[in-house]
Amino acid sequence: MPELSHFIDGVRVQGKSGQFRAIPNPATGEILFQCPLANATETRAAIDSAATAQVQWAATNPQKRGRVMMAMVALIHREMEMLAATLSREHGKTLPDAKGDIQRGLEVLEYCIGAPQMLKGEYNDNVGPGIDLYAMRQPLGVVAAIMPFNFPAMMPLWHVGPALACGNAVILKPSEIVPSVPLRLAELFIEAGLPKGLFQVVNGDKQAVDILLDSPTIQAVSFVGSTKVAAQVYARATAAGKRAQCFGGAKNHMIIMPDADMDQAADALVGAGYGAAGERCMAISVAVPVGKDTAERLLDKLVPRIHALKIGPYTDKTADMGPVISAEAKIRIEGLIQSGLDQGAKLVVDQRGFELADNRGGFFLGPHLFDHVTPAMEIYRAEIFGPVLSMVRTDHYEQALGLATDHIYGNGVAIFTRDGGIARDFVHRVDVGMVGVNVPIPVPLAYHSFGGWKKSIFGDLNQHGPDSFRFYTRTKTVTSRWPAPKDRDMGLYFKAMD
Ligand code: NAD
Repeated sequence: MPELSHFIDGVRVQGKSGQFRAIPNPATGEILFQCPLANATETRAAIDSAATAQVQWAATNPQKRGRVMMAMVALIHREMEMLAATLSREHGKTLPDAKGDIQRGLEVLEYCIGAPQMLKGEYNDNVGPGIDLYAMRQPLGVVAAIMPFNFPAMMPLWHVGPALACGNAVILKPSEIVPSVPLRLAELFIEAGLPKGLFQVVNGDKQAVDILLDSPTIQAVSFVGSTKVAAQVYARATAAGKRAQCFGGAKNHMIIMPDADMDQAADALVGAGYGAAGERCMAISVAVPVGKDTAERLLDKLVPRIHALKIGPYTDKTADMGPVISAEAKIRIEGLIQSGLDQGAKLVVDQRGFELADNRGGFFLGPHLFDHVTPAMEIYRAEIFGPVLSMVRTDHYEQALGLATDHIYGNGVAIFTRDGGIARDFVHRVDVGMVGVNVPIPVPLAYHSFGGWKKSIFGDLNQHGPDSFRFYTRTKTVTSRWPAPKDRDMGLYFKAMD
């Protein structure tokens, strides 16, 4: 069985811990590789190498750091097909989804080319006699990024790009379920001109994460994953005195007002609810029609569209969605579907027992739609992270607004309406971090920052955009006094120069 590696000090390094995780192809269940799980010695070796390399990198002109990003963008374009196929095979998402995953990461690297602009400081001239006051942004040192399985290229690039552009070294702990693309990205960074040691990939599980969290060399931690682990990582990192930003789970609502374009709303729900098999932190998992008539009209449009979805492996170019990530994830999602039935929700699209023709052990699940879901039900409260959409009927706008506002998660939300006044009111009052108006997945582009509210985030600064340059730097403020030279001294000065 082929073994994957770590990427330490500029090269692929075999795992030495003797511990591995088997990586399946989710479309077939066949084991592709054994991924090594790093022990304390291997993790510390990566940290030490990063600390050595970072000193010189911090002193490198930010424009040169930006040029590495520019070269990296070109290399990713060169390798796009190969990276997408690798990503799809390991994750299960369709090839267009895999390319989107890579593209959204690449856009953050494009943003990072502007590092000199982003790192400009502040200056006040003459704040006192001969005194100037200025502030500059300096890198933190060695930082860690602990990433989830659902965007194997995008999530690492969202963090590695800005961290490096700011002059830090990064230890990436990718999800141990999808390690291949991050390893290839590390090789490409070296080809792009990044000095060795600045980007290390340590594959592993909680053991490796805990070493990173406890290491005094690691100055900051970026975590993306489930809320339970985000809370634990945030507590441990901050208790150790580190800067931390930990992004958690989601339950994103889409409000459909009676005046919405129902075809547009149904198309949006199908794409945002079932795309990537619902394994997106910005997936819409709750549809909230306002009024009984709206609910019925929406169902008429939605149900046939869901039945028309084509499920298949990434090699099937006509597939709309692939399998879920693992056998465990499939069992967990099936358990939640059963809980919805047990608690009285109506399964309007029921694809339990779905089997793909010729399936040889892939983790495929058909799309499901629940109607008459209530806020007390488990399928409403929990993040399902699978192809299951819940419909919660409401009588009026305030009730719909209240649902999204009262939910413990606050990552994304959308409203579909033709009424600008309602849309504006919603944008201002809803207690959620990223809002879409007639846009179902309102992911900000690279030059804005991405982050939710409530239990979707622990910490304050968001991912990519201006916040990332704030997160990965600290401000040094200098008050400097240079008394004006007297005429006599100036004469002496010029004499000395002769
Ligand atoms: P996860 O929490 O299981 O794992 C995330 C990372 O944490 C992995 O690298 C994993 O190895 C590590 N980890 C797991 N258990 C740990 C522990 N006990 N201690 C320390 N580290 C641990 O998440 P996942 O299943 O990989 O990803 C899916 C989750 O990520 C979903 O909840 C999704 O909403 C969330 N997500 C959030 C965002 C966001 O920006 N808010 C973006 C993408 C995904």
